[in-house]
Amino acid sequence: MSITVAKYAGFCPGVSRAVALIEKALKEQQRPIYCLGELIHNRVFIEDLRRRGVTFIEPEDLEKLPKDALVFIRAHGTTEQVRQTLFKLGLDSIDATCPFVQKIHKIASESGDAEFLIIGDRSHPEVQGILSAAPGKASVYGGLAELEAAFPEGTVIETPAVLTAQTTFHTEEWKKCQKFIKNIYKHLQIYDTICSATEDRQKEVRALAENSDLTVVVGSKNSSNTVKLFRIAEEVAASADGKRALLVETAADLPAYRDVIRRATSISITAGASAPGSIIQEVNKTMAEIMNEEASFAELLEASFKTLHTGDKVVGTISAVSAAELKVDLGTKHTGILVYDEITDESGIDLTEKYHVGDQIDVVCVKFNDADGTVQLSSKRLDASKNWETVKAAYESGEILTGVVKEVIRKEEAYAGVVVTKGTARVFIPASQSGIAKGESLDPLKGQKVNFKIIDLNEERKRAVGSIKAVQRAEKKASEEAFYASLEVGQKFTGTVRAIMNYGAFVNIGPVDGMVHISELSWGRLRPPAEVLTIGQKLEVFVKHFDPETKRISLGYKTPENDPWKLFTDKYAIGDVCDVKVVSLMPFGAFAEIIPELDGLIHNTQLADKPVNNPGEVVKVGDVVKAKIVGIDLDSKRINLSVKALLEPAAEEEAPAEAPVEE
Ligand code: SF4
Repeated sequence: MSITVAKYAGFCPGVSRAVALIEKALKEQQRPIYCLGELIHNRVFIEDLRRRGVTFIEPEDLEKLPKDALVFIRAHGTTEQVRQTLFKLGLDSIDATCPFVQKIHKIASESGDAEFLIIGDRSHPEVQGILSAAPGKASVYGGLAELEAAFPEGTVIETPAVLTAQTTFHTEEWKKCQKFIKNIYKHLQIYDTICSATEDRQKEVRALAENSDLTVVVGSKNSSNTVKLFRIAEEVAASADGKRALLVETAADLPAYRDVIRRATSISITAGASAPGSIIQEVNKTMAEIMNEEASFAELLEASFKTLHTGDKVVGTISAVSAAELKVDLGTKHTGILVYDEITDESGIDLTEKYHVGDQIDVVCVKFNDADGTVQLSSKRLDASKNWETVKAAYESGEILTGVVKEVIRKEEAYAGVVVTKGTARVFIPASQSGIAKGESLDPLKGQKVNFKIIDLNEERKRAVGSIKAVQRAEKKASEEAFYASLEVGQKFTGTVRAIMNYGAFVNIGPVDGMVHISELSWGRLRPPAEVLTIGQKLEVFVKHFDPETKRISLGYKTPENDPWKLFTDKYAIGDVCDVKVVSLMPFGAFAEIIPELDGLIHNTQLADKPVNNPGEVVKVGDVVKAKIVGIDLDSKRINLSVKALLEPAAEEEAPAEAPVEE
């Protein structure tokens, strides 16, 4: 059995300096000392300072302080607003801001027009203080996941930016964030501001946890750097059977973990930057005492129970059911607790209806509480792992998945994408892959069931990126292929005019477009397609030609049925009277449209009951006049009309013979 105490455990240089400064002030200053926030995150230490006359206050209390108050700024630093308030109130202060933190304040204050970026915990006082120093736009991101959600794939930002990190940020995550942001901001200045004390401590705890059965992290649960150390130790412990990590505030917390400590053959102790050396020593001593205790009868009995560890997957038996949780018997000394949120993400499920005492249930052990003899369980996380396997398999096979859009993610005013859930697995779909046109709202997608493909996957981080667009593209391609396969020359369609060009028009026929050439659009002289068609117009067309290689479809429009001569002769005969529209004037007479695309000639001699030298004397283009059909020449496709015949019935009889047919 061995106990190793980390080289970097306990106060970091910044905290040591702050503690030394407050000790000096307590000794030398004969006036009340007010510390802005807890000097360090350690209950015992804080209580001691309080007893010795230090009052811990929040920034909003500054206005109420007596004139002779001495305000102490801790190692985290503070905001510019607080400094201005101190100045305005004329209060004395001791600034114990850690020099590493001061350096980031300086970088922020000198960022000028560049956007100031910091990776860290936005609620942490250190980050809030740093942000307040930036003169321009300042943004904080909690890690890679937030960055991925904020910047859709392909985002490029040309404006300059400065990137920093909270001093106690996780070094591995910081590296990933840097890599990601470098691809977004083209003019980026990176300052690696993670404090070396933090980095050394994090590296050391990983190495210690890898070589120990049990890693004990000493510190407060509200100390950012302590919690990060514990997370690293936990992560290492979860990756190997039989390893554990504990977070304790003082030695008094240790007896609750007596059996865990005694089971361990190698133990490492580390501590957050705010843990005093005396507490670390006490933990070390108590640990050694526990390890050397004789096993009691009760402990030997306990040892006979099956032993489970965090991360173990087991089948338990439900021993109690309530609306909020299930109790699960695991055959161990711990009672398994499976709370609603660890069973399902869905709301409105009645556990008492769905689960019954005696039912078996698959669970994973999440957290042991030896003090109250319980272990928190999760069945949802097991499902999550199954769902993740489904997502992974779909990425490898290209299979299309179906899920529900749970969230629409925005970055400032723009839409970043949506999150689709596949069971408990979450898949991010960037706006560019949503199938919604650029710039349009993604809100209508929320709650919808969508088909998507996985286009990128990060196994380590369990993150997947999907595409609805890829599915739509594939569906469109399949439907086009099926359409082409069934296409035959002569096949008729009612198409819709989609685009009008000088040389013809594109007409949509189902999933594809075909081209109607200009020559197909008129029977007589060629007319510009824009004169004949309008966008959106329905058109009866047929397939004239289809090239399977190029997928080009030539459509025909002219058929014997819509030949104007057929339409004319079906409807009219010599002697019929019709309304005609004057379309052009010639020296010898006026041409007038009888039906679309078919004109007849009203010769000068037939325009009026008086001599006409020029048709413009009696009609103009656009006039609609009544005329009688006085001649039809089917061979030369000419029609003669007469207005005069209707004015002089007597003369009408002779008209056909007199009216020459003109070109
Ligand atoms: S962890 Fe580093 S940055 Fe923070 S107070 Fe300590 S020395 Fe300063």
